[in-house]
Amino acid sequence: MKVARFIDAGRPRVGIVDTAAGRIHPLDKKLSNVIGLIRLTTGGFTYGGSDGSGIPLDTVKLLAPIIPERNIFCIGKNYHAHAKEFSVSGFEAGAVKGQETDEYPAIFSKPPSTVVGPDDIVELHPQATSTVDYEAELAFVIGRPGRNISEADARKHVWGYTIINDVTARDRQKNHKQWLAGKGLDTFCPMGPWIVTADEVDAENLDITCHVNGELRQQANTRDLIFKIPQLVAAISAGLTLQAGDVIATGTPAGVGIGFNPPRFLTAGDRVEISISGIGTISNSFG
Ligand code: MG
Repeated sequence: MKVARFIDAGRPRVGIVDTAAGRIHPLDKKLSNVIGLIRLTTGGFTYGGSDGSGIPLDTVKLLAPIIPERNIFCIGKNYHAHAKEFSVSGFEAGAVKGQETDEYPAIFSKPPSTVVGPDDIVELHPQATSTVDYEAELAFVIGRPGRNISEADARKHVWGYTIINDVTARDRQKNHKQWLAGKGLDTFCPMGPWIVTADEVDAENLDITCHVNGELRQQANTRDLIFKIPQLVAAISAGLTLQAGDVIATGTPAGVGIGFNPPRFLTAGDRVEISISGIGTISNSFG
């Protein structure tokens, strides 16, 4: 099932997307929030039908499929080649040559105010930064809440998967040590185009690509994640209760702007398009 949020007569609604037919089938009008749906369906989601034949998908404005109730959990340096390119870029505070990867996952967060839709404009914030960069990532959404979740049980807590762009101000990421200041600017988390429920996704074998103005920059498969999703769930939920609707981003592969010499930062008018097999595509212009 592909669960999307969209604007209908000026109000957000939730719908089920049929990509083959190019239509979106609205759910109950009272359901404007995917977190409510997740709470109703943590044990699995069966779609019982639609009201009518749906709306042509290309006529609706899609929103981010979920606005989390608290910060998005994010993982840094979770692909070997990206950990290396980041370490040698000069933008990693405290980088140590030969120690590009870590024994434990790096965990940081982005506020909910970073979240925008799958085709919304991302602000460049020229007053705050001149080094805006992209990061294509698979993200997953928690269904069943839990604390101290074991790796063996982790999959039972994942409700679905989506795409995010972990947009980053590299100068602020470096200068402020903790990454929040470089990762948390308004609009810095495009998300979508929908959430695909966990039953339809083999999360350990998904192709990720990222194009900037049509040029291929990132290409990887999630089998190359250093810390796999069960390890991430176990690490984050240790002593911290994960809640329904929490979003966890798994990290970006190599090919970000600071992987080039000289770095290739985003400028006004650039368009970043991220695709993940089995999920879809988000495409955001910067300005
Ligand atoms: Mg990232």
